[in-house]
Amino acid sequence: MAMNEDKGAKRPARRMPKKKVCTFCVEKIDEIDYKDVQKLRRFITEKGKILPRRMSGVCAKHQRILATAIKRAREMALLPYKAD
Ligand SMILES: [Zn+2]
Repeated sequence: MAMNEDKGAKRPARRMPKKKVCTFCVEKIDEIDYKDVQKLRRFITEKGKILPRRMSGVCAKHQRILATAIKRAREMALLPYKAD
């Protein structure tokens, strides 16, 4: 039996992204205005989906606030629910 066979050797080394800090924590923002579409747009994908935390670097607390703001912005038709 080959012992040197390395399962998953093809997997690329996990790339360490630049360490991200929650921008809202840095700016000491506790509330996110749903009308601030420019800011919100930085946290959604082209398709209008909310960026996952590991991509945006937003902390759990602010991700929640952000998600609420984005959802509200969608209701107000400031942001798309979905765009293809
Ligand atoms: Zn934060």
